[in-house]
Amino acid sequence: MKNLEKLEQLYEGKAKKVYSTNVEGVVIVDYKDDATAFNGEKKGTILGKGVINNKMSNYIMKQLEETGVPTHLVEELSDRETAVKKVSIVPLEVIVRNVAAGSFSKRMGVEEGKELLRPIIEFSYKCDELNDPFINDDYALALGLATEEEIETIKSYTRKVNETLKAFFLNIGIKLIDFKIEFGRLADGTIILADEISPDTCRLWDVNTNEKLDKDRFRRDLGGTEEAYQEVMRRIFGK
Ligand code: UDP
Repeated sequence: MKNLEKLEQLYEGKAKKVYSTNVEGVVIVDYKDDATAFNGEKKGTILGKGVINNKMSNYIMKQLEETGVPTHLVEELSDRETAVKKVSIVPLEVIVRNVAAGSFSKRMGVEEGKELLRPIIEFSYKCDELNDPFINDDYALALGLATEEEIETIKSYTRKVNETLKAFFLNIGIKLIDFKIEFGRLADGTIILADEISPDTCRLWDVNTNEKLDKDRFRRDLGGTEEAYQEVMRRIFGK
């Protein structure tokens, strides 16, 4: 984008900063190396993560656009910065599960790694103070978090995202266990995919060894976190 200027910081989240620009409807996200887990209880740094998540997320969003899922991506500006469409985030964490893991395994008493008979789409209410509680469609509607039409749109895009991502990762020897995505509303109300898709937000296991190539290495102190992120990057982009 010609003459795009980064103006002041609007927001700082756990993994990204957002800046306003001189262009209406466009903001710049700046990916950090900061990592948090368990709602900010555990803090650390994953060196190089910001660069990897920026590039990987953009690459994936581009592919998703081609399948008809609209995204916030405008243009990658640098290693860590990307121009994106300004949205107001729908306060739902949309989680897709193909294989049991994490909070699902705990809640349902199903061992991690068990293939699910069909993908699950679930929602959490995006609210740090409440620890992102698990909710269903009725909660979202009753609380006015989204309209019926928006939920239908979100689910339909989400199913498409899952199919695209599963195939994308399988092609590079990675099993997509689960992931979280977020959607936003443009000024005119259009729903688009926002936030990021990266090893911070997906569980990615090596298809042969089941080795974890994602943020669980950090969450669970498994070591080799930087190497795992780099490995995913290498498989996507080659060296
Ligand atoms: N996830 C995320 N942000 C969150 C919660 C979950 O990106 O705040 C991702 C997580 O990386 C995993 C999927 O969503 O790929 C499902 O996470 P789960 O509900 O099992 O929660 P966790 O076990 O990570 O607490």
